[in-house]
Amino acid sequence: MEFDKGQNPTCIFCGIAAGVTMADVVYDGGDTIFFRDINPKARVHIVGIPKEHITSLAAVADDNLMLLGKLLHDASVVASQQDLGGGGYRVVTNVGSDAGQEVDHMHIHILGGESLGPLRC
Ligand code: 5GP
Ligand code: ZN
Repeated sequence: MEFDKGQNPTCIFCGIAAGVTMADVVYDGGDTIFFRDINPKARVHIVGIPKEHITSLAAVADDNLMLLGKLLHDASVVASQQDLGGGGYRVVTNVGSDAGQEVDHMHIHILGGESLGPLRC
């Protein structure tokens, strides 16, 4: 278990992607990985990331477009595996300080397992 080229050893999510940092991983998509949020905001709260270190959605480059599509596709697979398909779920990504982004490695939140109410702004 070691960091790949394109990963940042000081980034907590790169650590999870590299298997260096412990997490409750629910799905490994090869170039993506999904794990339970350490501080869940819904009954089911899973974080999905590209294994490559991309700081946020705002930093996605042209050569990351396939990877971004794969991340969203894998999110739907994970949601089905977690039995969220019936009731539905929410997928969110935070970009920057106004959105409250805490970890500067692009990630999506999959939230579900209960009625989430309207999206608050
Ligand atoms: P953000 O606010 O950046 O969109 O979301 C970061 C999320 O990552 C938060 O919901 C936070 O609880 C979660 N998180 C931060 N550090 C860790 C960690 O070390 N392990 C796991 N599993 N989740 C983390
Ligand atoms: Zn990273």
